[in-house]
Amino acid sequence: MTDARALAVEYLKQQRLLGGDSVILRGRGTDGPSVRPVSPSGFPPVGIAFDPPSADLFAADPIQQTRSLQDVATLIASCRKCKLCDARTNTVPGEGPATARLVVIGEGPGRTEDETGRPFVGRAGELLTKILEAIKLPRDLVFICNIVKCRPPENRLPQYDEIAACLPYLYRQIELVKPKVILAMGGTAAQSLLSTKQSLGALRNQVHRFRGIPVIVTYHPAALLRNPNWKRPTWDDVRIAARLLDN
Ligand code: SF4
Repeated sequence: MTDARALAVEYLKQQRLLGGDSVILRGRGTDGPSVRPVSPSGFPPVGIAFDPPSADLFAADPIQQTRSLQDVATLIASCRKCKLCDARTNTVPGEGPATARLVVIGEGPGRTEDETGRPFVGRAGELLTKILEAIKLPRDLVFICNIVKCRPPENRLPQYDEIAACLPYLYRQIELVKPKVILAMGGTAAQSLLSTKQSLGALRNQVHRFRGIPVIVTYHPAALLRNPNWKRPTWDDVRIAARLLDN
């Protein structure tokens, strides 16, 4: 058996242990199995590594001078760095413990989030809670937040300048939490975090890195409510995140 085939077999065994379907390998002549390549670790291949500038301890920027998630939330509450502040009811900084091993990042607050000041509430939030429970991770052990902290009007996509203005808050939250794994849900979250224009489809099935932290990309729960066919691939992605957490 070739090295590539042995690695593929090992990968599929692990997938099966994690509850995936059985897969029959069919050789292509003498070229080995017809499965996508895997890294030697058995995880999906390495993707984008993005390392935005880290904090400067002596910077005058108030965001860099925060020492807790609550400090960051306090700054966000009075932030007027982009036009999204005009129509917001509440800022939605994110919630969860500073000791969280997993950070979940979505796109931006919707109507219910804007009304409550909490991320991922409503039907999409309930689905996220179920997804986390499926990997035996209670929601209250996860830090959950969004790329932008104020609701875009009519739930439109956040614009480039709004994302650029808000990202320093997210960077600081990640610096403070120091998670073991990041789960980016939806194209906006993945593209903004990894500073890429690649599609969600192209970004899935790889282990990306943000400042060295593994990043898994999957669908946003709101998209799953619109298209239940994406639940299975989302489950595959979330299981990879769970394996990285346990690794
Ligand atoms: S979206 Fe972010 S940058 Fe814009 S006003 Fe809200 S907190 Fe500030």
